Amino acid sequence: AAPVLELVDLVKHFGSGPQAVRAVDGVSLTLVPGEVLGLVGESGSGKTTLGRCAVRLETVTAGQVLVGGVDIGPMRRRQVRRMRRFFNIVFQDPSSSLNPRMSVADIVTEPLRLHHIGTAATRRDRLSELLDQVGLRPEVGTRYPHELSGGQRQRVSLARALSAGPALLVADEPTSALDVSVQASVLNLIARLQAELRFACLFITHDLAAVEFLAQRIAVMYLGRLVEVSDRASLFAAPRHPYTQALLSAAPIPDPPVQRKRARIILGGDVPSPVRPPSGCRFHTRCPVAEDRCRTDVPPLRPVGSNGSLVACHLVSEDGTGPRLVEPSR
Ligand code: SF4
Repeated sequence: AAPVLELVDLVKHFGSGPQAVRAVDGVSLTLVPGEVLGLVGESGSGKTTLGRCAVRLETVTAGQVLVGGVDIGPMRRRQVRRMRRFFNIVFQDPSSSLNPRMSVADIVTEPLRLHHIGTAATRRDRLSELLDQVGLRPEVGTRYPHELSGGQRQRVSLARALSAGPALLVADEPTSALDVSVQASVLNLIARLQAELRFACLFITHDLAAVEFLAQRIAVMYLGRLVEVSDRASLFAAPRHPYTQALLSAAPIPDPPVQRKRARIILGGDVPSPVRPPSGCRFHTRCPVAEDRCRTDVPPLRPVGSNGSLVACHLVSEDGTGPRLVEPSR
């Protein structure tokens, strides 16, 4: 199928010259219809900036963002607004993304009005359907955001984001501002909605348990670049890039069905500044197996093994074998 979203050599710098923050630095990524792609990395990896570029909340410094084959990068604001019925975003904190002066009914149906979809009567029907889909009672429509709990507000955000039937939803840490007790229910809701409505989803998170639950493919980002892209099973069973291995080794596994055999890898130092990222492989300052060439040569993201995985590490060979810092976990 033709991609819903295609990022081609995407670059986003904030500022210019030597002080520029190089948030995203040459990322190419594709999402096909109905696919959930998890984008993971520590804070400062550039994953949120990438998601914002994908829906044109940020203009790109270089490269292309193709939505349904159309480059939205050079579009004027008015054209982008028209395209927005095909893609939408759900933010981390629903409190700051919902207009406090609008009722839930007006918030949820706003995209329908903006895109001139339906009549007042059909929009009312659509509102009931949407509230039902996100598990809210019909009477919630008359309430205002401050009268709702955090979980309810995120359900409203989801209803609004999905109201015009987008082909692509970017979900930027949609559960991390919520109480732990409601995170699972919102995650379950996103999974159910995605299975029902089949929109493609770029799911951005630092929560590995959440991507393991939701995503079919996972992209790992470090300091503005992708280091590994793989299907879920391969990534969790045998992460290939040393950074992915370290990231997975540090993640808690709630109630593992099978006790995973693994050792925790502690990385030295902090994530370097994106203002002056390390030369060569950006991970070399923390990589336990770095070699001399890692300091000078940028490892390209290239296919390895037979399952379509992409890895950017000099030490991973074409057949996918390479440094193994963690025992295969399953
Ligand atoms: Fe480590 Fe070198 Fe591979 Fe980078 S390229 S992850 S520094 S071994």
